[in-house]
Amino acid sequence: MRYIRSMASTDDWSTRHSVLANARRTAALINVLTGTDDQPQPQPDAVAEVLRQYGELEPIEINSGDIARMRAAALLLREVFAAGHVDPAAEALNRLLLEHTGRLRLTSHGGSTPWHPHLDRHDDAPWDEWFLASSCLALTVLLWDRQRPPGGLCASPSCQNVYVTQGPGPARRYCSRRCATRERVAAHRRGHQDGTSLSRARESTGEA
Ligand SMILES: [Zn+2]
Repeated sequence: MRYIRSMASTDDWSTRHSVLANARRTAALINVLTGTDDQPQPQPDAVAEVLRQYGELEPIEINSGDIARMRAAALLLREVFAAGHVDPAAEALNRLLLEHTGRLRLTSHGGSTPWHPHLDRHDDAPWDEWFLASSCLALTVLLWDRQRPPGGLCASPSCQNVYVTQGPGPARRYCSRRCATRERVAAHRRGHQDGTSLSRARESTGEA
């Protein structure tokens, strides 16, 4: 996605609306909407804050009915992140594109933005329809571009977050540095317990 990066330095709108930024917004919304067991229904303020972080303009009017419908959309979108491989991820996206989105169209929101693609049925679509459609569009483009699943589920057993896969290189496994560090520390502790007899054996043979 080199062209997006170079455009991003000169065009703030492109920064906020790049495919990768949209996919990260999707992951952040899924996490705030479905990430916790103890609080099955998040507060509208928490969701509005995520939208604000990703450039949504004020006023952000969102009520508890919107949140319930967005949560249902988030549960559908989690299937793409849970797929684990590019083929089932594509199949999950195809199901969503068939059943839950409108046709591909271009909008400039009445001339207030550059032309860009939308998959919701109209510019005033409800939050849940916009969330599902904009997410499907971003995840579809990422899968197309990289021929990889666009994201995954955090490998930490105590975390239910999703994350967006970023760029080439080794596959990412955790949603955040926090989860990666916690699991590394836990693995280190387990290694110390399991490795006690091994280190004794090494001491006896003079190995480091
Ligand atoms: Zn995590």
